[in-house]
Amino acid sequence: MSWNDLAARVLDGYAANFDDALSVLRSADDELLPLLDAAYRLRRAHHGNDVRIHVLQNAKSGVCPEDCSFCSQSMAFDSGVERYRMQSVDEIVEGARRAHAMQAVKYCIVTATRGPSAGELDTVCEAVRQIKAEMDINICTSLGLLKDGQAEQLVAAGVTRFNHNLETARRFFPEICSTHDFEDRIETVRAAKRAGLEACCGGIMGMGETEEDRAALAFELRELEVESIPVNFLDPRPGTPLAGIGRMSPKDCLRTLCMFRFVNPTRDIRIAGGREVNLRRLQPLSLYPANSLFVDGYLTTGGQGYEADIQMIEDAGFRVAAIVAE
Ligand code: SF4
Repeated sequence: MSWNDLAARVLDGYAANFDDALSVLRSADDELLPLLDAAYRLRRAHHGNDVRIHVLQNAKSGVCPEDCSFCSQSMAFDSGVERYRMQSVDEIVEGARRAHAMQAVKYCIVTATRGPSAGELDTVCEAVRQIKAEMDINICTSLGLLKDGQAEQLVAAGVTRFNHNLETARRFFPEICSTHDFEDRIETVRAAKRAGLEACCGGIMGMGETEEDRAALAFELRELEVESIPVNFLDPRPGTPLAGIGRMSPKDCLRTLCMFRFVNPTRDIRIAGGREVNLRRLQPLSLYPANSLFVDGYLTTGGQGYEADIQMIEDAGFRVAAIVAE
């Protein structure tokens, strides 16, 4: 069966299975363009040629007590990343103005923390109320593990989506984090959804996981019915335990994005951190399976810059998605 045949079946309602996912990940280099074409059929059917732009705000940096081995924001590692406590309401609102000027459909407020304190949550909620009163932009927050009632507070303030990545497959998770477990993350995603928030939930590729692990993550996300899937490619950070791991090949990055599209055909699939350094010259091809980008860099690393991101979208024949207030 050709990749286009598989795409046609998925468009007809067939749910790609684990073997399909592995076939995508293990496909030959000379199948890459047909594979991208097939993934694009799914992307186009559900998202047209729009590219949804998201902008990140690192509202609390480098002071997380957890020990995720890929993360430069863990206090367990000497990564040299900038460290600061919670930003003020004014700083977070100012970030939203920048994001709005960059045509972002989502402004993503992120804190490096196990979970938000009551005071931190109050700061985020007040900032969100002020942002929503001032401009049309949708708000996602990524604040770590949530306690009872915290998701509801975010909803009341005007947040519509909550990010909490699973990071990797259930099997591999204990190898990258010892301070919380996979089920903690699943429960926070479920709590966010129960409260009425959309879930943004993805992972990081290239941490030493197997192809089966990558596929297993895509199926966990399908099971959780997450609305948005950020796919990061490890950009090894100095000082972290994964500092010595090599980067993925651009072709493996593309196969991975196609796999996520086949398994989760209707979802927002966002190319996240590590895009520029892993995909290199093949970056524009990633817009065929994926329909969303973080622009203007990431939490602790710079990207290629906003102007280059927009140029890439337009040169490849895609267009920046308009903001639709949620
Ligand atoms: S919980 Fe988040 S911020 Fe903290 S170390 Fe893990 S990935 Fe980094």
